[in-house]
Amino acid sequence: MMDDCLFCKIAKGEIPAKIVHRSGDVIAIEDVNPQAPVHLLVMPVEHYDTLFGVVSAGQESALVHRLIEVASTLGEQRGSGGYRLVVNTGDEGGQTVGHVHIHVLAGRRMTWPPG
Ligand code: AMP
Ligand code: ZN
Repeated sequence: MMDDCLFCKIAKGEIPAKIVHRSGDVIAIEDVNPQAPVHLLVMPVEHYDTLFGVVSAGQESALVHRLIEVASTLGEQRGSGGYRLVVNTGDEGGQTVGHVHIHVLAGRRMTWPPG
């Protein structure tokens, strides 16, 4: 738990959020500022800054699997003909909350390249 981390507080129930999935070490919430009809955030309950932080923790490969499992399953369930998973990482990558999360975007046609 990082004291000043928004998503740690959400994972602990200290700040309200619309939780759409919770299973052990992973939760998924609705994004408060949705960029598509379906916009969910899948994250570990435990704090890691980035996906590289999870990978670097070595023994956490099961957690990487679980994050991708939950994100892709939600995309399959809630998308209608496709979905997009996004992990913004670091300042230049557009990460604004420093607790790793996978965006699940669906419900409209996505464009490429992203902004
Ligand atoms: P990123 O910019 O990739 O770090 O994504 C952070 C996401 O968290 C953004 O899409 C925000 O809209 C979302 N967000 C910020 N605060 C909250 C909150 N309290 N509840 C749910 N989503 C949030
Ligand atoms: Zn955190």
